Amino acid sequence: MKSYIPYLVVLLLISVAAAALVSMEVTEIVEEPGVSLALPDTLGSWSGESLLFCQSDTCMYSFSAPQSKESPVCPRCGSEVRSSWSVAEVRLLPSDTVLLKKAYSNQRGQTLYASVVVSGRERVSIHRPQMCLAGQGYTITRQGTQVLDVPGREPLIITVLDLQPPLRHHALGQKRFFAYWFVGAERETASHWARTWYTALDRLLLNRAHRWSYISVMGNAQTDGPVLNDATSDFIALLCSTITHSDPGSDN
Ligand SMILES: [Zn+2]
Repeated sequence: MKSYIPYLVVLLLISVAAAALVSMEVTEIVEEPGVSLALPDTLGSWSGESLLFCQSDTCMYSFSAPQSKESPVCPRCGSEVRSSWSVAEVRLLPSDTVLLKKAYSNQRGQTLYASVVVSGRERVSIHRPQMCLAGQGYTITRQGTQVLDVPGREPLIITVLDLQPPLRHHALGQKRFFAYWFVGAERETASHWARTWYTALDRLLLNRAHRWSYISVMGNAQTDGPVLNDATSDFIALLCSTITHSDPGSDN
């Protein structure tokens, strides 16, 4: 029964919001996202390369490259490559979605994959991370939150998932972690349900439609389970202070 509660809350909110919206003035669409629309080439001691995706249904090869060329082709099959967008994303996401992806490596040979999804006008570009990961074949073995110190602002709270890779990738044998949070106009949360709540609440009370951004970092599993190691924590804190604009703790 407990697992239905979030759905019931959302249903209730939608009903209330729908009823209220009927008698409401025009909602202010917040066009300005709370993040930069580019990922930096370097973050501290980490250097980033763009992630490119082959658009062939049978290949779907992905690789990193220092800079996206004019019209890059897949090194495996020679077909078109659309920077940052996988085949599934091209199929599912509105074309005005902003998708940023980079692979960052450090001197110690650790690689982290950073991704930012900024929703477009239809506000349907961001889905529940757990659903998307399951759709890609990952099994979530553990879920928790972690609080990270970020200089110059209040601590950042992120959700951290432990992932078992899809069966077809088991030969590679590598478990992964997946960390994420969401940024809206003067809102920040590590919870999909809280994001849904703020979306409804701010529409209702402030006449404001968020242009949410979904920031995630993925990498090989850390030795301490859901607790990220210092290098990874520092990377995420640096990413946060570099690409997010406002301090959600400083709102009036
Ligand atoms: Zn290909």
